[in-house]
Amino acid sequence: MRTPVAAAIYTRISSDVEGLGLGVTRQREDCEKLAASLGWGVADVYSDNDVSAYSGKRRPEYERMLSDLADGHIDGVLVYHIDRLTRRPIELEEFVQAVDAAKVKHVRFVTGDADISTGDGLLVARMLSAVAASESATKSRRVRRKQEQNAAAGKPHKGSTRPFGYESDHLTVRAEEAEVYRQAVARFLAGESTRSIASWLNAQEVPTVKGGTWGTPTLKGMLVNPRYAGLLVHSGDVVGAGTWEPIISEDDHRRVLAKFAQRMNSGRRAPQRYLLSGMTRCGKCGNTMYSASRIDTRRYECRSGPDHGGCGKSTVIADPVERLVADFVLYRLDSAELADTLRGKSSADARTSELSAVVDQASEQLQELAAAYGMRDIKMTEWMTAKKPIEQRLENAQRQLAQVTHSTALIGLVGNGEELGRTWGALNLDRQHAIVEALVDHVLIGPGTPGVARFDPARVSVVWRH
Ligand SMILES: [Zn+2]
Repeated sequence: MRTPVAAAIYTRISSDVEGLGLGVTRQREDCEKLAASLGWGVADVYSDNDVSAYSGKRRPEYERMLSDLADGHIDGVLVYHIDRLTRRPIELEEFVQAVDAAKVKHVRFVTGDADISTGDGLLVARMLSAVAASESATKSRRVRRKQEQNAAAGKPHKGSTRPFGYESDHLTVRAEEAEVYRQAVARFLAGESTRSIASWLNAQEVPTVKGGTWGTPTLKGMLVNPRYAGLLVHSGDVVGAGTWEPIISEDDHRRVLAKFAQRMNSGRRAPQRYLLSGMTRCGKCGNTMYSASRIDTRRYECRSGPDHGGCGKSTVIADPVERLVADFVLYRLDSAELADTLRGKSSADARTSELSAVVDQASEQLQELAAAYGMRDIKMTEWMTAKKPIEQRLENAQRQLAQVTHSTALIGLVGNGEELGRTWGALNLDRQHAIVEALVDHVLIGPGTPGVARFDPARVSVVWRH
């Protein structure tokens, strides 16, 4: 395809919320920048200001552009974003037809962030029409664009969401952060856990984009983001190459994804260290409490902060809570109530092996797919598309499996609580944990009395599984 020598730039602003026509100016500047970077010639700028496409009002400049297209005066179109062209899919089809009839294959969109696509022609235009129809998506993007305008005008933009490693134009690499990103990837590929890398980042006092500390979800989101390999993503799929500078190679990005897939499939869990790990909840805020070792005591505590989200105001010494809950559990094993609850679950074992087979099969398929992508037998888009339904199946089976298997830990124990109590202390922690988890949904830790150090059993309420 020949590079356009007479492209059209179309800009529009739908209302004055972005202020003083600045929006149109910025759209045009961005389009001109893109044209320059693509080596396109620009024939004319078509600009409708302060007119809503949604209202169905006429747009004289838009109509002039369509007419110039039809007359063959234009061989390319640049638009800031599809929603500048139109917000209604039917109008988009009209535009697509006009472009098609004029045999113009070059249609490009400028983007303010990595989530929204740019690219050539019909396919991308159709794909983006879904996004254009979504008011919330366009709104949040306009807010971000507004922040960039503020930055351009020298105004601060609090809450901007530039990607780590890039300036707020989302294009220019920040050398220092890019180096940090490369090191994080290298550490991850060398086998370091995301938890450990997050601690390293925090120890290095590297702030996140929002100025906070690193948690594993943020870090993981960043590590798997294709934009760092210069890849464009739309609706979760890689759709092409971006216009910005990559920070890592596509091969390294591929390795990071494969490694995450591998870890997920192997289902590796952290070793069990506390009897009630993951089971205690803060009575003040309802969040899961974390186990914590202090110099001479083990505790469960509510933690605040981005990775935990609790109130951080509740803590309890582990030993007495664990002894109390174990006693409750052993007593429960002999109760008539439990026998009733479990009666309906005898058919669970057949279901368990059925679900295990689904999990094994899906995990195997995911590994094969990742391998095929690693060997370049399939494209990334094909990989992404193929793995979605498998991941869904795997997730469903795992969830159901988790529900059924809780009762299998209890085989041979129901009715034998008293006897089990005599050997309880000799069981290893994993086994104890499995038995408790089979019966207990969660343990609610109520607030302590201020100034009272002694453990108060009234703080502990056990919520049983049904
Ligand atoms: Zn709390």
